[in-house]
Amino acid sequence: MKILVVDDSETLRVQLKQDLEKGGFQVVEGVDGVNGIEVLEKNKDVALIVCDVNMPNMDGLTMCSKVHQTAEFKAIPIFMLTTESGPEMKAKGKEAGVIAWITKPYVAEKMLAAIGKVLKKT
Ligand SMILES: [Mg+2]
Repeated sequence: MKILVVDDSETLRVQLKQDLEKGGFQVVEGVDGVNGIEVLEKNKDVALIVCDVNMPNMDGLTMCSKVHQTAEFKAIPIFMLTTESGPEMKAKGKEAGVIAWITKPYVAEKMLAAIGKVLKKT
């Protein structure tokens, strides 16, 4: 199964790619919200999105809300990676289709377990 990772930090993308590939997933990457949508358009078989919040050009919440409003991508589960997750942001995320929050620095085993659980249901 294919996962789209969107984060402006190359270090984090490399790390996420490694961890997700160890978990048996194929990974495609986007460097910001604008690019994330472009990559998704070219990879319509993406099963899940892991997305950063703070990014240049288009932030994660805006990207996720756009994805969530697009009929063909509406059902893709979204995990948000963040350092900050106050109630206001969580409410915004929920509207944008975010189903889980992962706090940085993330624990790979925990993240993989959560992703596995979600994908088993879909
Ligand atoms: Mg960032």
